[in-house]
Amino acid sequence: MTPEEFRRHGHATVDWVADYLASLEERPVQASVAPGDVRRQLPEHPPEQPEPFEEVLADLDRIVPGITSWQSPGWFAYFPANVSGPSILGELVSAGLGVQGMLWSTSPAATELETHVLDWLAELLGLPATFRSDSSGGGVIQDSASSAVLVALVAARERVSDSNRTGVTTTHTVYQSSQTHSSVEKAVRIAGIGSDNLRTVAVDERYAMDPAALDAAIAADQAAGHTPTMVVATVGTTSTTALDPLEDIAEVCARRGVWLHVDAAMAGVAAICPELRWIQRGVEGADSYATNPHKWLGVNFDCSAFWVADRAALVDALSVTPAYLRNPASESGQVWDYRDWQIPLGRRFRALKLWFVLRCYGAEALRERIREHVRLAAELAGWIDEHPDFELAAPVPLSLVTFRHVGGDEATAQVLEAVNASGRACITSTQLDGRLTLRVSIGSLRTERRHVVALWDLLRTAADDLAGRRAGASPAG
Ligand code: PLP
Repeated sequence: MTPEEFRRHGHATVDWVADYLASLEERPVQASVAPGDVRRQLPEHPPEQPEPFEEVLADLDRIVPGITSWQSPGWFAYFPANVSGPSILGELVSAGLGVQGMLWSTSPAATELETHVLDWLAELLGLPATFRSDSSGGGVIQDSASSAVLVALVAARERVSDSNRTGVTTTHTVYQSSQTHSSVEKAVRIAGIGSDNLRTVAVDERYAMDPAALDAAIAADQAAGHTPTMVVATVGTTSTTALDPLEDIAEVCARRGVWLHVDAAMAGVAAICPELRWIQRGVEGADSYATNPHKWLGVNFDCSAFWVADRAALVDALSVTPAYLRNPASESGQVWDYRDWQIPLGRRFRALKLWFVLRCYGAEALRERIREHVRLAAELAGWIDEHPDFELAAPVPLSLVTFRHVGGDEATAQVLEAVNASGRACITSTQLDGRLTLRVSIGSLRTERRHVVALWDLLRTAADDLAGRRAGASPAG
């Protein structure tokens, strides 16, 4: 592809993406294909000869029915995974520059922009000064919150042992709640600690970790001669957005000498709104913290912002330097090499998309989006609470509403199916106290009040159908 051809095809490709995003409202939210449908349309063998770019682009339309529209305004499933114009263009520039930012010297701007933008984000979130680059800590972009907790765990493990050298020779114990994301168990397995040594601490009636139960669990392990290594507290659990009490948990961790990692993957970015910053009260006591701009802040996956209070602990745990990576800048001690902050060696210039988003929207507009989602969630929760056929399942501190049909799991499953079969909205479910529970996660950049009203109409109609009633007009207008 010559530079001129690249320019022409690039314009056509941007047009294709712009048309896709502009047409989301008319598209079914969920993919409408059966297993194997997509592959059946593809040639069995790869092309021997070049194909015209126009044909490649045209074929995209054939796979679109197999795309689930995470960017749809009717997307209320799982969690938001927003993309935005500035972020997509930041990705494009990153692809065009094609740098490997593994060492400062392999592309100084990639490292320094990342450090700088994470300082900006820490400031916007009101994170403690210990996480800033001018202190003992600092931030880095991981591909995911799962990687963030894994590298935090390796650093925590090395703080209390010499496992990198000797292998795991002691019983490290890690603490989560029954609501903690599964990425923690995965990290425990990968780090050689083992699922049997992952303690699940009780939660209170709001599904938040009980600090007294945590304290007792750590005390029991210490008495048994084990090595309590890390506690994972969550700001916004996956099932219900439960908020673990960081202040009390941090006190336990400090007193018992255990690393505290805070997983704020989905909800943490809400702290850019000063009035919502209470969700992370006590974060000053954390050793590490992760939140995902690639969920609720309009930044394309992958962009998980991760901070540590003691960067030396992380770098010491992850740094291995063969001769071919040695260079004067690294040895001067004046620069950071982000390869030492993550699992892979290579790394993309991911800070560009975050930089573009922060600059093109500005903090005020980003705050307004989050406030609007939180307001819409409260409004929907109010309608659900008042409806005789539904009951709320958990508090709604931010933008996730969890609820059930009062008729039990079977009725709740039928409501879920009816909403998703409509093609106009997509919601998912979880289990709470052994009961099927619906989740409506309001966080798409394109979701407006009218989309939430349309979802409420679908929910009410499903309840009316179950009760054999005729649907009436929406009270929500
Ligand atoms: N932690 C929480 C609380 C989550 O909700 C999720 C994803 O839903 C994750 C971690 C995993 O995020 P990632 O895909 O960035 O690993």
